[in-house]
Amino acid sequence: MNYTISEIAVIIKAEDYKFPEKEVSVILTDSRSLTFPEETLFFALVTERNNAHRYIYDLYRKGVRHFVISDNIANKDKMPDANFLKVPDTLAALQQLATAHRNRFDIPVIGVTGSNGKTIVKEWLYQLLHEDYNMVRSPRSYNSQIGVPLSIWQMNESTELAVIEAGISQPGEMDKLEAIIKPTVGIITNIGGAHQEGFASMQEKSLEKLTLFKDSDCIIYNGDSALISDTVEKMCLGTREIAWSYKDKNGPLYIIKVTKEDENTRIRYSYLQYEGEFAIPFVGDAAVENAIHCLAVMLYLGKGPNEITKKMAKLEPVAMRLEVKEGRNNCLVINDTYNSDINSLEIALDFQVRRATAGMRRTLILSDILQSGMLPATLYRKVSQILMHKGVDRLIGIGPEISACEKSFGMDAEFYLTTDSFLNSGAAERFNNELILIKGSRDFHFEQISEALELKQHETILEVNLDALIDNFNFYRQKLKPETKIICMVKAFGYGAGSYEVAKSLQDRGCDYLAVAVADEGAELRKAGITMPIMVMNPEMNSFRTLFGYSLEPEIYSFKLLKAFSKEAEQLGIMHYPVHIKIDSGMHRLGFTFEDMPLLVNELSAMPSIRARSVFSHFAGSDETRFDDFSLRQIAIFKDCARIIQNVTPFPVMRHILNTAGISRFTDEQMEGVRLGLGLYGISPIGNEPGLRNVSTLKTTILQIKELDADQTVGYSRKGVLSRKSRIAALPIGYADGVDRHLGNGKGYVIINGRQAPYVGNICMDVCMVDVTDIDCQEGDKVEIFGDQLSVCVLAKWLDTIPYEILTSVSSRVKRVYYRE
Ligand SMILES: *Cc1c(COP(=O)(O)O)cnc(C)c1O
Repeated sequence: MNYTISEIAVIIKAEDYKFPEKEVSVILTDSRSLTFPEETLFFALVTERNNAHRYIYDLYRKGVRHFVISDNIANKDKMPDANFLKVPDTLAALQQLATAHRNRFDIPVIGVTGSNGKTIVKEWLYQLLHEDYNMVRSPRSYNSQIGVPLSIWQMNESTELAVIEAGISQPGEMDKLEAIIKPTVGIITNIGGAHQEGFASMQEKSLEKLTLFKDSDCIIYNGDSALISDTVEKMCLGTREIAWSYKDKNGPLYIIKVTKEDENTRIRYSYLQYEGEFAIPFVGDAAVENAIHCLAVMLYLGKGPNEITKKMAKLEPVAMRLEVKEGRNNCLVINDTYNSDINSLEIALDFQVRRATAGMRRTLILSDILQSGMLPATLYRKVSQILMHKGVDRLIGIGPEISACEKSFGMDAEFYLTTDSFLNSGAAERFNNELILIKGSRDFHFEQISEALELKQHETILEVNLDALIDNFNFYRQKLKPETKIICMVKAFGYGAGSYEVAKSLQDRGCDYLAVAVADEGAELRKAGITMPIMVMNPEMNSFRTLFGYSLEPEIYSFKLLKAFSKEAEQLGIMHYPVHIKIDSGMHRLGFTFEDMPLLVNELSAMPSIRARSVFSHFAGSDETRFDDFSLRQIAIFKDCARIIQNVTPFPVMRHILNTAGISRFTDEQMEGVRLGLGLYGISPIGNEPGLRNVSTLKTTILQIKELDADQTVGYSRKGVLSRKSRIAALPIGYADGVDRHLGNGKGYVIINGRQAPYVGNICMDVCMVDVTDIDCQEGDKVEIFGDQLSVCVLAKWLDTIPYEILTSVSSRVKRVYYRE
C-alpha cells in the first residue's frame, strides 16, 4: 500500500522533511535487500552492532530518495533531492508506522508466541488456511522488534487473515509488539527452557509473553501447562479461551487419544458436542503439540471435522534448503550459510546424517548462534547435547561466544574467534574424507569457508583483465545518458570470464543490474557476496525456491511461467516480488507477443505476489545494417507493448531493448536501460570499435618439444604429416579445455613469442601439438591460444562461428586468474 511522505511524517512525528506529496510503498531496514529504490523508505536503524546511517549515501546512489534518520548525515550536500525525515529514534518510528498501518485493518490477526514451534505453527496455519483466505504471514522467522513491523507492513487492502509471529528476549519488549500486532486470536505454543536472558523467573517470562493477548478475543494454549494456566488466570484476560487438554474432559478441547504409527500420528479429540479424528504425517511430540494448536485455530474459525481431517493429512515439513558440493581431499561440503538457530541446526544435522556414507567422519563448522534469547552457557550446553545426540564426530566452533563456551563440548573440537582466523590457521587444508556441514549466521560470512573447501583443479589458465573490463564498461557508459541503467550480462559464467569476479568489479563501479541465464548462476553470485539486483533470463520451473532464497528476479516469458511463479510466491507469502516481462518483438525465441497483451495485463493486475519491475525485448539482428528496418519495427512493437503494461501498473516500469550492438547503433533508443554483453568483454559485435580492450586471454605453456624427421607423422590417425624436418611443441590444452578440434591440422594457429605457430595433426582431448620449427622457443615458454595478440574474432572466422561461442567454450576446468594493471 502506498503512503505519502506527509502521511508518514504525521504518524512518526518527523521534522525537517521535503516533498510531502511523494509516495512510498516499500520499507527497507537492511540495505542489502534493496529492490525498489524509487518507492523505498529506508529506516536507518541504530543497533549495538551497526549504525545504518552509514549506508544512506550508497542507497542514495542506487536511487533511494526517502530516509528516516535520527543522526546527522554525511554527504548531505551531495543528495539535494533526498528527503530526510528526522525522528529521535528510528526503530520507534518504524514501530509507530507499523502500528498505524495495522489499525487500518479490521480482520482476524493471529499472534503466535512461545518458546518453541512458533515458525512451524505459523507455516502450518498457512498450509491449512491459505486456500480459504487471502493471507499474510511473517516471512521466515521475522518475529523481532524489527521483524514484526516488516511483517505487518505486508498487509494490504486484499488481506483477509494475518498470522504474525512474536519473539522476545527481554522484559518490556512484548508490550511494543502487542501494540503493533493487536492480535484478535493468540496462540502461546509453550514456555520452555530455564531462566532466559533478562527474565527473573519462568512466571515473569510467561506473564510477559501473555501480554501479547491482553486485548485478544480468544487465546489458545495448552491447558495442562500449570505455568501457562496460572498466568492466564492471574491476568484475568476475560477473553474466550481454548485451553486444550489431555486430562480435562469438560474443557473446551479435549484430546482423547494420540496414537503413533510408523509414519503418522492419529489424534482423536472432542470439541463442544462432537468428536473428531485426524492424522498428521509426523510422529514427533513437538509435531503433535504444534498440530493441536493449529486444530484449535481451525475450530475457532468454524472449520468442520471433515475439512480438518483432510487438510491435516497434507501437512508438509517446513522447507529447508541445503546443498552438497564436492570438496578437496575427498570431502563433501554441505552449505547452510543461510541462518543459524537451534531448530535449523537440528534439521541440518539430520540432513547430514542422511548424506553420510560409511567411513566418512561427520564434521560441523558452526558459528555463534545469534539472537537465540538464551544465555550463551545454556545455549551451547544445549547445542552440545544436540551434537552428541546426532553423532557428530568433530566440531569447529567459530565466534567469540561459542569459543568462550568451549568447555560445554565434550568432544573432538577446535575453536576460532573469527572466520578469518580459521581460514588463516591452515585448518582448511587438513580436512580429509569428511562430510562437512557448514552452518553459520550471515554475519560470519561462512561462504568464504565453503569456497576454501571446494575442489578446484588447474592446468592451463584463462587470464582476465578486470581493469580492461571496467574500461569497456565506461566506454559504453559514456555513450549513454547518466540516468540510463546498465544491465550487465554475466550469463554463461560471465561469457567465460568468471561471473563472480566480473560481477564484483561491476558492483564496485556502480553498474545497476546483473543478468544471468539460470538460477544457479545467480545463487553462486549471492553466495559469493554480490548484493546488487540480479535478473535470471531462463528461470527453470524447479528453481523458484532458489530465486526467492537468493533474491533473484526472473524473466517471465510465458503465461505458464507467469502462473507457476506467482503461485509459488503466493504460497510463500511473498508480496510484489520483482519480475521482468519479456516481449517477443520479432526474434521469435521467447516472450509475449503484442496479441498477448490484453490477457497479460489482466493476469498481472490480479497477481499481488509479483510485480513487473521491467519490460524488455531482444533484437534479432541489431549488428547488421541490412536488418535496420526490421530492428526499427522491433523497437516500435516493443514500445507499444511496454506502454500497455505501464498503463495498468501504478509504478514506473523500466524499459530496455538495446544489446551491445544496439547501444552503438541505436543509441537514441536507450529508454530507461540497456543490456550490455559482449562489449563488456572487449569484443565489438559490429567490427572495429577503437577504445575497447581485450579482457580474456587463454594461455598455456610448452610442455615438451620434439625434433622430428620429414617422414614422421604427429598425433591420432597419423594426420599430422610433416613435409620437412620439424620442431613440434606439445601443449597441455585440448578440446576438453575448449580448444575447438576443428582448429587442428593447420586450420588455426597459436601465438608463441609473438609468432604464429600452426596446429599440427588432430587436437587431442587434453593436449595439442603446434609447429615451432621457425620460432625461437623452449619448453616452459608461454603460449597464447586467444586474447591480447590473437582476437577471438579471428578464431570465430576460422571456425565459421561467433566470438560468443569461443569465449563461452573455455571449460570450467581451466583456472581463471584475475588481475588488475
Ligand atoms: C545475451 C543477451 C544480451 C547481450 O547481448 P550482447 O550481444 O552480448 O550485448 C542482451 N539481452 C539478452 C536477452 C541476452 O540474452
